Amino acid sequence: MTTIEPKVEQPVFDPLLTCLLQVARIEHRPCSEASATAGLPLVDERLTPELFVRAAARVGLKSRVVARDLSQVGQLLCPAVLLLKDNEARVLVEVDAASGSFTLLDTETDGQQRYSLERLQELYSGYCILVRPAFRFDKRTEMVRPRHQQAHWFWGALAGSWRIYRDVLLASLLINLFALANPLFVMNVYDRVVPNDALETLWVLAIGVLIVYGFDWLLKVLRSYFLEVAGRKSDVLLSGFIFERVLGARLSEKPESVGAFASQLREFETVRNFITSSVISAFVDLPFTLLFLVVIAWLGGAVVIAPLVAGVLIVGVALYLQGPLRRAVEQSYQSSAQKNATLVETLANLETVKILGAEGRLQRNWERAVGHLALWGQRSRMISASSSSVAGVAQQVCSVAVVVIGVYLIAERELTMGALIACVMLSSRALAPLGQVAGLLLSYHQAHTAYMGLQGVVDKAQERDEESPFVQRPYLSGAIRFDSVSFAYPGEEAAALKGVSFHIAPGERVGVIGRIGSGKSTLQKLMLGLYAPQEGAVLVDGVDIKQIDPADLRRNMGCVPQDVGLFYGSIKDNIVFGAPHVEDDEILRAATIAGVTDFANAHPAGFDRSVGERGQALSGGQRQSVAVARALLNDPPLYLFDEPSSGMDNASEMQLKENLARVTEGKTLVVVTHKTALLTLVDRLLVLDRGKLVADGPRESVLEALKKGQLRVA
Ligand code: ATP
Ligand code: MG
Repeated sequence: MTTIEPKVEQPVFDPLLTCLLQVARIEHRPCSEASATAGLPLVDERLTPELFVRAAARVGLKSRVVARDLSQVGQLLCPAVLLLKDNEARVLVEVDAASGSFTLLDTETDGQQRYSLERLQELYSGYCILVRPAFRFDKRTEMVRPRHQQAHWFWGALAGSWRIYRDVLLASLLINLFALANPLFVMNVYDRVVPNDALETLWVLAIGVLIVYGFDWLLKVLRSYFLEVAGRKSDVLLSGFIFERVLGARLSEKPESVGAFASQLREFETVRNFITSSVISAFVDLPFTLLFLVVIAWLGGAVVIAPLVAGVLIVGVALYLQGPLRRAVEQSYQSSAQKNATLVETLANLETVKILGAEGRLQRNWERAVGHLALWGQRSRMISASSSSVAGVAQQVCSVAVVVIGVYLIAERELTMGALIACVMLSSRALAPLGQVAGLLLSYHQAHTAYMGLQGVVDKAQERDEESPFVQRPYLSGAIRFDSVSFAYPGEEAAALKGVSFHIAPGERVGVIGRIGSGKSTLQKLMLGLYAPQEGAVLVDGVDIKQIDPADLRRNMGCVPQDVGLFYGSIKDNIVFGAPHVEDDEILRAATIAGVTDFANAHPAGFDRSVGERGQALSGGQRQSVAVARALLNDPPLYLFDEPSSGMDNASEMQLKENLARVTEGKTLVVVTHKTALLTLVDRLLVLDRGKLVADGPRESVLEALKKGQLRVA
């Protein structure tokens, strides 16, 4: 039973994307659909106005969604994208103010259509997107550009909420001023009210103080609310940005351990908490200690010496312990990553662990990592706690000292009773934020270490960098040339490919053979632009693939990798994973050729059968079939197969081979294989040996040479 019925569906039409391509062409920044939308989180496979801005930035256009009346849209703003009702959009290319007519581009034919103001008014939603080309600096002038002009990913995102932070600062100022109310109230009661029995004054003062407290409460609530709002805004922006950098990074920048990398990314939480939580308001409160000290000096004169000394002591101890604290935090950060690396690797290989009986070894690794983490976690908390306890003692001693000094001053008639009490209250208020310094420093170091880790992620070299735009190649004919290509994997000394040169003409069918580790898969990875060669160049259609947008390049290649990667979801989901636009009958065609239909039909759920995480619920051969079906979608001009039938039985393999021979007719085909059966697919053979191309010729003569031993392969 199959759940896919062959039926004709309308292909997904994306008006905004069409408009973007039209505007891009007008502004001489032509681009393809694939390169404009690659990696964007499309909604229902379409651009939204917000995503339009992101996609336009990729193409080198600055854009902005604005609410604007049609009467305010003039020729100077053209070309602009008008958002129409019913989620339609059109490009406005001309406004004739005299006759009041608007010229729009047709989304299908690119032809121009004139509309009168009244007619357009009926269709117009009230919003438009203003677009203009961003100025591109050359590499020549790069060194002239001041560094600070480049918006910083982290601070730039925070700066977006500067108004909120300004208000938070203002609120903090008021909150701290309000803190003066209580001591001053008590002082006046002792000095003025009590001696004179002035009950009326007492009530006036009391009501005043209560009102101040009301405001204080309100401001505190607002302050934490706004910090949360600003935090949420930055959180969404930053998480999205970081994930985009992770996905956009070159494969050569791939981290060594997925688990450790995941832990590094998760630490973003620490940074987020730091900028949103109460921690930041505690930081903001710190400078107000000075304010309280000034007030104490004003009220109590020499009394201020006590809190001053205590404050210096507290801050001194905290600063002294900073170094060890930072080290402890960094160590726990690293052990946490190590712990996660062990965890993730173990979970991913649970079956192997059991087969090999290696549980003990992993248990040991785990316990070591956990122990190390616990040790350093404890150390950092101990350091922070000891600093806090010093602060506690200093505060207590300080209040005693204030009283002692105060009594001497009262005796000399330099201080009133009320002023002394106010000084005691103020000094504890002054030292309170300092007492938190130890805790704050701990949070700060944690956030800073996490931030530095994220900075490393953000700095990773990207596949698409804005400085060097790609040439537009949405359609490739399938010619591949290797020009003395040498390549070593990052961090490896030995080259995986050495001086490999060959040319494959469009429509040619080539087999690549060689012993294990001879560089066959590497050859295909270079064709896909997953890695760049250190020497030489890989050219597709005569263009160095460095200059072709990876999205365009890979869209033109149907690839079955050696290790098939599937995702949690149904078989159908997995076939259309990278190409959500395809129609059902196209999926069915690909699935039938690849042999997926045979095993899908044998299951009650058909194409909706779940493949499990990483495709674990399918057999090795079935996974390969799904991968072949994926590669066949979209009918690309170039096919790269890396042992597509290694997990299949002879009958399935023969079937696949016949089907492939049929569908790849006239297309460029590069098949890596260990099996002679598949070699009938190809007319030409490349033989790799330890990274070198040792033979290249017609299939029969190469096989003959191999048989006769004329070709020596180690
Ligand atoms: P097989 O027939 O076993 O698939 P292959 O010819 O496809 O072998 P490649 O996968 O191209 O071999 O590997 C060529 C060399 O590059 C090998 O020596 C291998 O150890 C090395 N290599 C492959 N992938 C990586 C990687 N990600 N990092 C480092 N070295 C790698
Ligand atoms: Mg291989």
